[in-house]
Amino acid sequence: MKLQEYTESKHNFEECMKCTVCTAYCPVLQVNPRYPGPKQAGPDGERLRLKDPFFFHYALKYCMNCKRCEVACPSDVKVADLIQAARIKYDRSKPKLRDRILASTDFMGSLARPFAPVVNGVTGLGVTKTLLDATLKIDRNRTFPKYSGRSFERWLSRREKEQAAFPEQVSYFHGCYVNYNFPQLGKDLVKVLNALGVGVRLLDKEKCCGIAMITNGMTEQATRHAQHNVAVIGKAVAEGRKVVTTSSSCTLTIREEYPNLLGVDNAAVRDSLMIATRFVFEKLERGATLRFRPDFHKKVAYHTPCHMEKLGWGVFSEKILRMIPGVEFTLLDSNCCGIAGTYGFKKENYAASQAIGAPLFDQIRTINPDVVACDCETCKWQIEMSTGYAVANPISILAEALE
Ligand code: SF4
Ligand code: SF4
Repeated sequence: MKLQEYTESKHNFEECMKCTVCTAYCPVLQVNPRYPGPKQAGPDGERLRLKDPFFFHYALKYCMNCKRCEVACPSDVKVADLIQAARIKYDRSKPKLRDRILASTDFMGSLARPFAPVVNGVTGLGVTKTLLDATLKIDRNRTFPKYSGRSFERWLSRREKEQAAFPEQVSYFHGCYVNYNFPQLGKDLVKVLNALGVGVRLLDKEKCCGIAMITNGMTEQATRHAQHNVAVIGKAVAEGRKVVTTSSSCTLTIREEYPNLLGVDNAAVRDSLMIATRFVFEKLERGATLRFRPDFHKKVAYHTPCHMEKLGWGVFSEKILRMIPGVEFTLLDSNCCGIAGTYGFKKENYAASQAIGAPLFDQIRTINPDVVACDCETCKWQIEMSTGYAVANPISILAEALE
């Protein structure tokens, strides 16, 4: 074995210098006294797990994989990855029915879509929420996202020829949310990219990125999804297309979690996959132009999702929003909204989830914007439910401002 292989682990825990910076940035540690924090559950725990794999085992489930500790760490220790990898490696318990339901977003979406009006009506009823709270421990205060009666895939596949006529093409990893809940975001992306002379294609049947499966202990299913998605993205890349996304969490999962947590090699596709605001920004930097409505005016407050912080790409969404004539822009303080995908739906996490998001909600109320912008669908659910303010993806705001 080479010396480097002997001294460096995959997630770099040996580099921890015990500065405790990560503990100051962990949103869970601030509100949940049962959680020992990123340093102890991460690099400290990893050393101890070499002797006893169950060290801090009870606490790992409290980590919501927001990655804020990794952004803060000056030694590039992959703290959140260490915690999630330990869960994957040592947790022998089977996921609960609730966790399987929450994590199977594409399966649940395909079941609910044909009956969307009924499902939306029933899941909004107080009696349904009480029942789900009592039986599955999904907190009764949580609002469920609405389903759309028509899928985005169906909408775009009917426009294949029209999109193929554009001189440049991209493929779009739309994710479950756009396909089953909110096709309008995908339509907004098509409008923006068409205005830049770029046609939009579907991938050769994408699957859910698997982020909720990873955090809910469904590693085998997540790995199968990862292998499938890398193959279909690879096909688009081999045919010369970039692949754009509108969800920061799907993006982070495909780029980072596939190799780091699931061991799925994405080297051939990683650099070709990017969030749409970055793609648009780069087109504009190279000289492309957009025509804007002269009467557009909106007070926009941008929330950088945790996974966008980790990607380092919030700057692209910010620049796009600042560039729109008529936008009065505020960058919100860097705060986690608290939902972390399925985490905030669970009864045992609900109070912590709302406490984590409270500073963000207060700041939004103080600023009183027309709309909150952010690139993550679950942040949108959390902010809309907790503040009553409308939340839109920067791409949708850009689409609305176009002539
Ligand atoms: S911030 Fe990094 S170096 Fe500092 S204690 Fe946390 S993991 Fe260790
Ligand atoms: S990923 Fe987030 S919740 Fe987990 S330890 Fe790091 S900062 Fe805390």
